[in-house]
Amino acid sequence: MSTLAMHPLTGTAPTEADRALAPAIPRPAVRTEHAPLRENTRNATFRFDTSPRVLTVVSTLRLSEALMRIRFRADDDFAGFPSISPDEHLKLFFDMDEDGMPVLPTIVDGRFAIRGLTHRDFTIRWFDSANRTLDIDFVLHTHGVAGHWAATAAPGDRLGSMGPRSTYLVKDTFDWYVLAADDTALPALARWAETLPKGTAATAFIEVASPASQIPLPTRADLTVHWLYRGDAQPGTTTLLADAVMEYDFTNPNGYVWAAGEAMSIKSLRCYLTFRTRLTRDNWTVDGYWRRGEAAFDRTLRGRACPQCTTPAA
Ligand SMILES: Cc1cc2nc3c(=O)[nH]c(=O)nc-3n(C[C@H](O)[C@H](O)[C@H](O)COP(=O)(O)OP(=O)(O)OC[C@H]3O[C@@H](n4cnc5c(N)ncnc54)[C@H](O)[C@@H]3O)c2cc1C
Repeated sequence: MSTLAMHPLTGTAPTEADRALAPAIPRPAVRTEHAPLRENTRNATFRFDTSPRVLTVVSTLRLSEALMRIRFRADDDFAGFPSISPDEHLKLFFDMDEDGMPVLPTIVDGRFAIRGLTHRDFTIRWFDSANRTLDIDFVLHTHGVAGHWAATAAPGDRLGSMGPRSTYLVKDTFDWYVLAADDTALPALARWAETLPKGTAATAFIEVASPASQIPLPTRADLTVHWLYRGDAQPGTTTLLADAVMEYDFTNPNGYVWAAGEAMSIKSLRCYLTFRTRLTRDNWTVDGYWRRGEAAFDRTLRGRACPQCTTPAA
C-alpha cells in the first residue's frame, strides 16, 4: 500500500491539510440507494435525474507534477448525489456571466441543453457524503480551458456542473482486474484501486511522463502497479498502455479489463480484447477520455467503434 510520505514536488512532509485531501489509506466505498436500470451477475447500469449545480472551490492540493486535486462544495449540498462506480463522471461548465457566476444549462424542450456551453467531462474522484464535498483531480496541461482553469483555481472560485447522469458498475465477481490509464484516467484508476475488495488480484498499467507524475494508490486489493514513462514524448502519442495490456496473460477469461486514456492510443485494445482473447463484451471497457489535437472531444459520438478493424480472429 502506498502512502503520501513526502510532497512529490517540494519533498516536504505532508501537512494535516494534505492528509485530509489525499489520505494514505483507502476510504470506504460509498454505495447510495439507487435501483439499477439493468443488472446481471457481472454489472449494473444506473440512470439518474440530474440538475445543474454551482460548485465552489474549498481547497486545492498539488498531487504530482501532472495532477491538481480540487475539493468542491455545492450550492445544494449535493442533494441526492449518487456515488456508485469508480469511473463515474460529471460535466463541468466553464462559462461565466457578467456577475462572475457560472452559466448553467437551461431547459429546452423539456431537457437540459448544453449546446453552446463550454463543458468538459471529469471523474468524480471522491464524494464525501458526510461532509458534502467532492474531489476532482485535474491534469495540468496548457492546451485547454479546463487545464488552465485548474492551474489557477483558488478557494471561492466557481464552476457549473451537471451529473452524473448514468453509471456502469462492474461487480466484484471477477477473478482478476487489469486497470490501464494515462494521466487523465489516473483519478478513475485510483478510485478503482480504492474500491476493489481486500485481496482482489489486480494489475495496473499507468502511463505518465516521469516518476514526478506518480501518485500513491491506497488499496486493500492485491495490486501490482506498473508505471510506464513516456519521457519526452507528448501525451497521447505512445502505445505504451496498449502494448502493456496486450502482454497480459488472459488465459483465465473470468477477469475484467478497464482501460481509459487518449482515444487513439488505446483504440487497438478493443480489437485485441475482442479477437485475440476469450473475454466477452461483459469483460472489458476501453474508453477514450480525450483525443489529441481535438478540443472538447465527445466520446459518445466517436472513438467507441473501430470500423477499420480487419484483425482476424485468433
Ligand atoms: C469520462 C471522462 C472522465 C475524465 N476524467 C478526467 C479527470 O478526472 N481528470 C482529467 O484531467 N481529465 C479527465 N478527462 C479528460 C478531460 O475531459 C479532457 O482531457 C479534456 O479535453 C480537458 O479539457 P481542456 O479544456 O483542458 O482541453 P480541450 O479544450 O478539450 O483540448 C484542447 C487541446 O488540449 C488537448 N488535451 C486535452 N486534454 C489533454 C491532456 N490531458 N493532456 C494533453 N493535452 C490535452 C486536446 O487534444 C486539444 O488539442 C475525462 C474525460 C472523460 C470522457
